[in-house]
Amino acid sequence: MSSTMTGTARTPTGDGTPELTHWIGGAARPGTSGRFGDVTDPATGAVSARVPFASDDEVQAAVAAATAAFPGWRDTSLAKRTQILFRFRELLNAKAPELAALITAEHGKVLSDAAGEVARGQEVVEFACGMPHLLKGSASENASTGVDVHSVRQPLGPVAIISPFNFPAMVPMWFFPVAIAAGNTVVLKPSEKVPSSALWIAELWKEAGLPEGVFTVLNGDKAAVDGLLTHPGIKAVSFVGSTPIARYIYETGTAHGKRVQALGGAKNHMVVLPDADLDLAADQAVNAGFGSAGERCMAVSVLVAVGSCADTLVDKIAERARGLRTGDGRRGCDMGPLVTRAAQERVSGYVDAGEAEGARVVVDGRTGEFDAEGEGFFVGPTLLDHVGTGMSVYTDEIFGPVLSVVRVETYEQAVEVINANPYGNGTAIFTNDGGAARRFQNEVEVGMIGVNVPVPVPTAYYSFGGWKNSLFGDTHAHGVEGVHFFTRGKVVTTRWLDPSHGGLDLGFPQNT
Ligand code: NAD
Repeated sequence: MSSTMTGTARTPTGDGTPELTHWIGGAARPGTSGRFGDVTDPATGAVSARVPFASDDEVQAAVAAATAAFPGWRDTSLAKRTQILFRFRELLNAKAPELAALITAEHGKVLSDAAGEVARGQEVVEFACGMPHLLKGSASENASTGVDVHSVRQPLGPVAIISPFNFPAMVPMWFFPVAIAAGNTVVLKPSEKVPSSALWIAELWKEAGLPEGVFTVLNGDKAAVDGLLTHPGIKAVSFVGSTPIARYIYETGTAHGKRVQALGGAKNHMVVLPDADLDLAADQAVNAGFGSAGERCMAVSVLVAVGSCADTLVDKIAERARGLRTGDGRRGCDMGPLVTRAAQERVSGYVDAGEAEGARVVVDGRTGEFDAEGEGFFVGPTLLDHVGTGMSVYTDEIFGPVLSVVRVETYEQAVEVINANPYGNGTAIFTNDGGAARRFQNEVEVGMIGVNVPVPVPTAYYSFGGWKNSLFGDTHAHGVEGVHFFTRGKVVTTRWLDPSHGGLDLGFPQNT
């Protein structure tokens, strides 16, 4: 590990296990609640650190620091704010491999995938470097005789970001560059399973010159989340995680008067039409189904094979899946472990259930050779064929390396399957028929669509978000929607008095 990764945010404990901290007021703060969670290295099963769970006093301290920092940060010029963003961007660029190594050590995804995650987060930092342009309002001269109108967008205040385990760096980066560049202060509550990336990022912000209190890391569990959700000082909440928690965050946060965007779970379908290039489709199904061990909200978990292509496609996917090397993400493997022992057991349990319900296990990842030392949380690539839409492997988000093949006869049936599903995050169609692709993008009730692209994650200057149970709220992440989420509009109507001003009139103002 590098010196930055073992810096101020870690302190040794009696038994030698590193103890992580919070980051409040521009400095590492040891936890005081006496409650901790174990952080594990999923490739070996070993406990690598202990993360403090915030007490109510620590929630109050975090929000107080963010509140105190807000007026100064809001009034810092756009030029100075973006200079700090640019410095952060340069530092992140230079140190990206450190962050990727930290992600792999706690999440388990392979190093190249972790580097990809950092790069996609970096895109949002670069987008936010353009904030002066994005915050420009509009102006109308002489909207009424002698009256001018202009609009501005202003920051909200302290905002909270609550993030999931599967993208320890990228998901927080969907939000905080935009929030900070727009003049807000941020309290980040990272997933307790992968807390170190957030602390690393806090140190990087300090090095970039961000004033203390503008970026806070509050580690913890439900108690910390509830403390932020109900705190009157927090003006908005950006959440990413599973659907039941996303719904809870949306309902609780809005009931407490906050602006909330809560991104939830997913079940992403990849449709393959018979005219598609089946080698391309098989490659991409494997990449999108098993990349990051299926622990991506945009992973393909259902392959909808239309008509005559199913047998050939299943054979081609099976051949490729059997050739993948699963093991420690630091060893050049294709696929890493799942995040925890519980996740490993849950995923294997779903495969058991699918088999019992009549699915055919074509490739079985429940057992096998894994390239790692110790007791890692591995499930290998798993391919299930003849999956029915009533089976639990279809209805539930498995969040593991399990690709389920649902066979249908027609394009229309494929769209019906997708639109009947309660999730609507991402979907893709593989075809050489432009007309079919055009119909598909129009007809599916899903927020992000790929045409011969299996993981259609929008680039930073567009906005990321699903439909239905994949997003509660009406604003997607980053892009122009992100700027709107983290700012409030204000319209100013101005008359500079001149000799023609016209005395009393109690009627409703009209443009004249
Ligand atoms: P999770 O819902 O268990 O946890 C997310 C966050 O909520 C964590 O910070 C956690 O500490 C907190 N949390 C957990 N239980 C809570 C409770 N009862 N009350 C308050 N807070 C609570 O999700 P996860 O397992 O960390 O992440 C995986 C999930 O995230 C999957 O469902 C995946 O699809 C989803 N996800 C969605 C997107 C998207 O863009 N839609 C992106 C990434 C991940």
